[in-house]
Amino acid sequence: MVCGVTEGSVYRTCNCRDENRKPLGSACPKLKNYKHGQWGFRVELPADAAGQRRPRRRRGFDSATAAENQLEQVRGLLAIADEDDVELRRDIGDVIALAFANRERFPDIDEMRRLVRAGADVTTTR
Ligand SMILES: [Zn+2]
Repeated sequence: MVCGVTEGSVYRTCNCRDENRKPLGSACPKLKNYKHGQWGFRVELPADAAGQRRPRRRRGFDSATAAENQLEQVRGLLAIADEDDVELRRDIGDVIALAFANRERFPDIDEMRRLVRAGADVTTTR
């Protein structure tokens, strides 16, 4: 089931730049070589309290599977909130956004679910 959140995707990229020093990203021709570059994922979190969209990305994974696993974890965290529970979705989005910003691990899904069931404020329990 597709919900309001962009499902996200996994991509491969590298640090190569063109002659104008512009990052090539996924356009780098060397990416044909499987060993070149690194994997990342992108996902769009629920909009913040001000209604701002929150596209996020994280890279540096050795494999597509590693990136996919992290994307799955973000999806799993967001899926804890019912689709129409805008407030909880945003709160969980806040926690995930913080993990992105601090380059930290994403919260454990079971732990998050436990907090939600207990009626805890998920944004203040870290
Ligand atoms: Zn490259």
